[in-house]
Amino acid sequence: MPGYELMGIEEQREVNEVFDSGGVLFRQGFDALRGGCFKVKEFEEKFAEKLSTNFALAVTSGTAALRIALATIGLKPGDEVITQSFTFVATVEAIIEAGGTPICAEIDDTLNMDPANLRKKITSRTKAVIVVHMLGTPARIIEINKICNECGLSLIEDTAWGCGGSVSGKALGTWGRMGTFSFDFAKTITTGEGGMIVFKNNDDYLAASAWHDHGHENNPMVPRWEDTRKSSGFNYRMMELQGAVGLAQLKKLDSILKFHKENYYKIYEKIKNIKGITFRTVPDNSIQTHDALIFFVENSEIAKKCRKEFLNIGCSTKILPEAISWHFAGEWSHMQELVGACQGDLANAYPASKDLLLRAVALPINIKMDSNYPEKISKALKKIFT
Ligand SMILES: *Cc1c(COP(=O)(O)O)cnc(C)c1O
Repeated sequence: MPGYELMGIEEQREVNEVFDSGGVLFRQGFDALRGGCFKVKEFEEKFAEKLSTNFALAVTSGTAALRIALATIGLKPGDEVITQSFTFVATVEAIIEAGGTPICAEIDDTLNMDPANLRKKITSRTKAVIVVHMLGTPARIIEINKICNECGLSLIEDTAWGCGGSVSGKALGTWGRMGTFSFDFAKTITTGEGGMIVFKNNDDYLAASAWHDHGHENNPMVPRWEDTRKSSGFNYRMMELQGAVGLAQLKKLDSILKFHKENYYKIYEKIKNIKGITFRTVPDNSIQTHDALIFFVENSEIAKKCRKEFLNIGCSTKILPEAISWHFAGEWSHMQELVGACQGDLANAYPASKDLLLRAVALPINIKMDSNYPEKISKALKKIFT
């Protein structure tokens, strides 16, 4: 799994620097007290540079990042936003919170948005698409981007699991109009709680920056208490201690991804020839974050059996099959807006997705992996499939 496994002295040093420089925990202002220490600002700049994009804005969470992105495109009540049926509840919550109507497209064998089904869900009310690079495997972003361009829709990439992944050499999160990231404690790099939005264009960046800070334009011509504003907003500001941790974690991103990939293939090599399992499709020319290794079995009974065998030998699965209720829209009858959008029949709204998800098994990839783990996994599977 993720950056929390490597939390250490580097993060501590960055945090200490904030206190050694004057202890200003607010992301801007207080210039006389902070000895030039601006951790959040530096984190944003380094993050944008890492992804070869123009602007980045650090915020309080990945969910907040989605909410701000939707404010930035000017979403209005009644506007439809299409996302995918397999995601974390946060993606749909952000749409609801922004006053939009959430519509979920089916997924395909990549376990991400099915471009053909996306096309079918577009109506005259559709305003934006939020594609999710679920569990570290890129979505079919080239096709989806093309559809959004053709139909004049804003594309937002929920890159919560995709930090460091790419397609055709272009970083995930930088294909769409905006890309959002999460740094919660389970994600590839972490600030405890936190998120980021990346932007191609300056106007979007300025609008988002103001909206996440009560409308503050941070006009350099006036002090903050006389600051100018064009609209109201909210408070989703990241604070300096999180920025400090983020800087240290970002420096570790490449090595985290390297460990992930090595461990992923150590397991894959042991199980790839087992008859009865097939692997999640990875779109051409894509680089995964290798956050999980996902395979399909024949039916949901066998998927549950895999989970049970793994638990017996002290190994867990990740989200699939056990946490489906938090990650499959077909289960979210507590979201009235979602139920309403599919005429009350949520349980049967995403048959293709349901079929795939119920027979999928996800193995978490950790940085620190016991050397006998791949063999243990392989043995457990062979017990079921021979
Ligand atoms: C984690 C996650 C989020 C939310 O991020 P938080 O930082 O926990 O708010 C959004 N979307 C997806 C797909 C996620 O996995």
